[in-house]
Amino acid sequence: MKTVLVCRETDPRETRVALIPDDIKKLTGMGFSFKVVRGAGEKSGFPDAAYEKAGAVMVASEQEGYDSEIVLRILKPQSAAGLRPGTLHLSYLDPFNEKALLHDFAESGVQAVSLEMIPRTTLAQKMDVQSSQTSLAGYVAVINAAARLPKILPMMVTPSGTINPARVFIIGVGVAGLQAIATAKRLGARVDAFDTRPVVEEQVRSLGASFIKIDLGEMGQTDQGYAKELTPEQIKKQQEAQAKVCERSNIVITTAKVFGRKAPRLIGRDVIDRMQPGSVIVDMAVSTGGNVEGSKLFEEVVTENGVIIMSGDFLERQVPFDASKMLSGNFTAFLTHFYNRETKEFEVSLQDEIMRGCLLTQGGKIIHERFKEN
Ligand code: NAD
Repeated sequence: MKTVLVCRETDPRETRVALIPDDIKKLTGMGFSFKVVRGAGEKSGFPDAAYEKAGAVMVASEQEGYDSEIVLRILKPQSAAGLRPGTLHLSYLDPFNEKALLHDFAESGVQAVSLEMIPRTTLAQKMDVQSSQTSLAGYVAVINAAARLPKILPMMVTPSGTINPARVFIIGVGVAGLQAIATAKRLGARVDAFDTRPVVEEQVRSLGASFIKIDLGEMGQTDQGYAKELTPEQIKKQQEAQAKVCERSNIVITTAKVFGRKAPRLIGRDVIDRMQPGSVIVDMAVSTGGNVEGSKLFEEVVTENGVIIMSGDFLERQVPFDASKMLSGNFTAFLTHFYNRETKEFEVSLQDEIMRGCLLTQGGKIIHERFKEN
């Protein structure tokens, strides 16, 4: 039997939990056993009593549960201190920026899985935390912007006058962008969208939004479905071409990211200066460099001309009940996939392309091709 520890997140801003009681019950039935740090689900609406009822043993601290074979948490820990050699540790790891932490995991003999490296394949879709969380964030971005806008989103024809629908511009139509378009449409806004991946145009149209056509020459996507990085000349051309759409929009939501690289700067101060007072911009790429000049992580900025720039990172934390439910579904799919029902063993198999894609350290070394150092 494999024991799994569910940690309590230590970042005070974090509201989610990695595994919810319903999934603990399901996995216990398969042969896993669970330790849960007290208070782990408190902020997301899953009290300790629900975990106990599901069969988990509550522990006072994560250190107390570190004798478990598998450790689950959402955010990367400060260090691998206290973890035992051979432990399988699953969390976000930010591996492109956290080299020291990777070395720490390797030297501690921990097998570290990076949630952001789970491959984007059909088989792994159930485990894709990036997708499950950013789709919720795309929804929240529109709700936050709508609540802040001094205008309503739908058209209203009344005896007192006619109100035109708000205009919403979504830049970057991946998982978050698609959900933002759908939410803004449901609220009655008129929606424009742009993405550098040409395949997106059809998806935008099918949601009833207009696709802004900008010819930037060679664009496209990687075999994992991610955008390719643009040249500085292409970015400049894009900025110029989309400026007019920004100026006429009441809400602009930017979600443009390039996996493993800095986010492109797409809206400069010159464009913001020409936007209407009271317009709202939500930058969903602040922590990876920012799509919008002047945006600040976890802060709202109001420019001199009255444009509101909102921070759009980690918005899924505003809906922790559903965000935890989806995360928990992702972790459950991962645990189930590698569980051998015949031997009742959990198998960390590098023959499996999902494990090969996301396991970064093993046997005292960094083993992932992308992060190995010669
Ligand atoms: P992401 O968060 O890396 O990027 C967000 C969006 O920004 C992408 O649509 C990207 O094309 C866009 N972008 C990048 N540079 C831009 C620029 N200069 N201007 C405008 N837009 C720009 O990507 P994501 O949302 O996580 O996923 C992208 C795509 O990957 C999805 O739409 C989907 O097709 C695919 N995907 C596949 C799977 C799977 O098969 N398991 C899972 C999730 C996503």
